[in-house]
Amino acid sequence: MTASSVVVVGGGIAGVSTVAELRKNGYAGDLTLVSADPIPYDRPPLSKEYLAGGRDLESIALQPLQWYVDQQISLVGGAVAVELRPDAGEVELSDGQVLTADKIVLATGGRAVRPSLGEVRRDVSVGLPAGNGQDRPVVPPIHVLREVADADRLRTQLVPGARLLIVGAGLIGAEVASTARGLGAEVVLVDPLSPPLAAAVGIEVATWLHGLHADHGVEALTTTVETLLETPAGVAAQLKGEPDSREFDAVLLAVGLVPETALAEAAGLETSRGILVDTGQVTSHPSVLAVGDCARLRDHHSAEHWEAAQLDGARAAATILEAEPPPATAPWWWSDRYGLHVEGVGEMREPDAEHTTVVRGVVGELPFSVFTLRGERLIGAVAVDDPSAVKAARRMIDRGIDVRASDLADPTQNLRSLLRR
Ligand SMILES: Cc1cc2nc3c(=O)[nH]c(=O)nc-3n(C[C@H](O)[C@H](O)[C@H](O)COP(=O)(O)OP(=O)(O)OC[C@H]3O[C@@H](n4cnc5c(N)ncnc54)[C@H](O)[C@@H]3O)c2cc1C
Repeated sequence: MTASSVVVVGGGIAGVSTVAELRKNGYAGDLTLVSADPIPYDRPPLSKEYLAGGRDLESIALQPLQWYVDQQISLVGGAVAVELRPDAGEVELSDGQVLTADKIVLATGGRAVRPSLGEVRRDVSVGLPAGNGQDRPVVPPIHVLREVADADRLRTQLVPGARLLIVGAGLIGAEVASTARGLGAEVVLVDPLSPPLAAAVGIEVATWLHGLHADHGVEALTTTVETLLETPAGVAAQLKGEPDSREFDAVLLAVGLVPETALAEAAGLETSRGILVDTGQVTSHPSVLAVGDCARLRDHHSAEHWEAAQLDGARAAATILEAEPPPATAPWWWSDRYGLHVEGVGEMREPDAEHTTVVRGVVGELPFSVFTLRGERLIGAVAVDDPSAVKAARRMIDRGIDVRASDLADPTQNLRSLLRR
């Protein structure tokens, strides 16, 4: 029997996608979305246009508030679920309210990792400029970036000439470096990997992408941070291999995500670096599903990308409706830096006995794309300023179409025509 009441906990893209897909596909029962934020909003702009000041909260809302009314979705905004009781089908909120449902979907996302960097000591006078700063709001200078409030705090410190240290040159660290340069900040970007992101885009593209930082005046260093010490002037950072610490006005820790599994763990659901789910997003309790960055398919990494979270929501809705799940598709992501648009799909591998790398165009001459083939089977692609190449590649991967390396490499060959083989 299909459910007649559903409660979704978490108002990110995974939670909003779950409620949207349920309604779109004919679910007519009670539907409640519990969102810690008053208005569920989108996260990708937080390191891009929102951080730059070009968009406001309303414009990054996943849906206008009227949409929830129109869809007869009870949005419980500004509410945090504190306990899950799966056998009773109950979710308790921090204000004591208890919601009951036939199916509960956890869409609690994740928290930014705060690595232990030696002694992070706070001086009582931190944030107060000597003399006359008492009337200014005090913004702690060590940041992470996951919430809109994180972006708001960081932005106050990205003023022209401000010295920003970014720890971690993955997708978010790189995007913030680009945005901060646009705002006139001086940026030092550190990462122990050389180049960062090679696993996602392949070494050649990763090297070129990382080189863009220096081209745009960022000091990109291959090292780690040993200690961060808050001082009245900002933060003293000791970088490994340097004799003296450096002074910064602000530090962003952009070193990854911890899935938010507390509710699930306390309820006795199976978790291991995420809430473990099956291919229908069902957890170890049959009445509870989990979607997005908080969930992980056993034996798989969590994707931690926007579209994967959205598709999880569509799969969860199909499971609840006992309908056909959406077809599986190769994982896709995008990122923007220094005015360039990067997209990737599938899996990139370095050339070896099994794998070939094919470059279409020239790496560094826009647009270009790079593909990984296993034999004649395309398994991954990355493109800069060429989304149509990734779109075509995704179809080839999803349909299992064999391609010749020479066809992929030939810029006169329309990639879409290869789909008709
Ligand atoms: C700065 C930034 C930039 C990004 N840029 C890109 C990009 O360019 N491309 C891309 O593909 N991906 C990008 N991502 C990744 C993408 O945004 C995430 O994969 C996606 O947001 C995951 O969605 P989610 O719904 O699973 O989790 P989240 O977006 O984290 O949403 C989970 C929500 O649940 C809430 N919550 C948690 N616990 C509770 C509770 N107990 N009760 C109530 N609510 C709760 C949280 O407050 C949060 O609002 C970016 C992420 C960040 C942070």
